[in-house]
Amino acid sequence: MAVFFNALTIDVEDWYHVCGVERKQSIPRNSWRVFAATERILKLLNEFNVKSTFFVLGSLAAAEPELVKLIAAEGHEVASHGWSHELVHQLTPDQFRAELAQTEDVIQAQAGYLPVGFRAPQWSVSARTPWVHDVLVERGYRYDSSLSPLPFIGDRKGLRVPYRLGSTGGELCEFPPLVTPTWLGNLPTGGGWGFRFFPTALVESSVGRLNASGNPAVLYLHPRDVDPDGPRLSLPLLKRFAAYGTRNDALPRIRRLLEGFRFTTLKELIADDLLHSYPIV
Ligand SMILES: [Zn+2]
Repeated sequence: MAVFFNALTIDVEDWYHVCGVERKQSIPRNSWRVFAATERILKLLNEFNVKSTFFVLGSLAAAEPELVKLIAAEGHEVASHGWSHELVHQLTPDQFRAELAQTEDVIQAQAGYLPVGFRAPQWSVSARTPWVHDVLVERGYRYDSSLSPLPFIGDRKGLRVPYRLGSTGGELCEFPPLVTPTWLGNLPTGGGWGFRFFPTALVESSVGRLNASGNPAVLYLHPRDVDPDGPRLSLPLLKRFAAYGTRNDALPRIRRLLEGFRFTTLKELIADDLLHSYPIV
């Protein structure tokens, strides 16, 4: 079955929540930028009448209580990005459960429903964390988007299309981010520095190829990607490149994709008729 919808997903965090970097406790409130940057994304989505999935960081939603309300009021899906932005493999299963529970409470209070999707900071779910998917199923989640088929930060041999996790009896669906396979390995064209760095035409052809094979592409961005003048953390070289390198406003690129492709939420992509087209692996 051909799938013509893709998902543009947003990891809702502020400029100082760089993955794998310990959170600074003393960021003054008047330097927070997440609200205004998220509003820019919402405005563009609204223009195209597109609904997206927003993975919100629980601690941020609690501190900025109008943000989730706004996202939900515009009909987007609110999902969980955990609570603290700690990498999942640095948490014990009980700490992970507690992070999920805290974030669920905030989303329930602000959006009016419990999240059914989860995305780990920096794709930090792997063979090192074999318990994660069971915990998600136990808490009622329907999908995960935490396994990346990228070298170094994920499993470079991982699947590039949605699938149902055999370890959960097919109950949990996995949505890997878009990558572009090349002889050098998979390129991170679906988000982060790769989305900003590679030509938009390459991103477009990668989305088109996935759609032609009957699969949706999952793209991801952060509010800071549309806030090129925002402040920056001082980071080691590689981290700095991943977080800020080639930093420019991602909005024109997103606009081009919105013009060329159809998008919806991940929750819509697990509707029954689609779900059963994804293999159990
Ligand atoms: Zn994140």
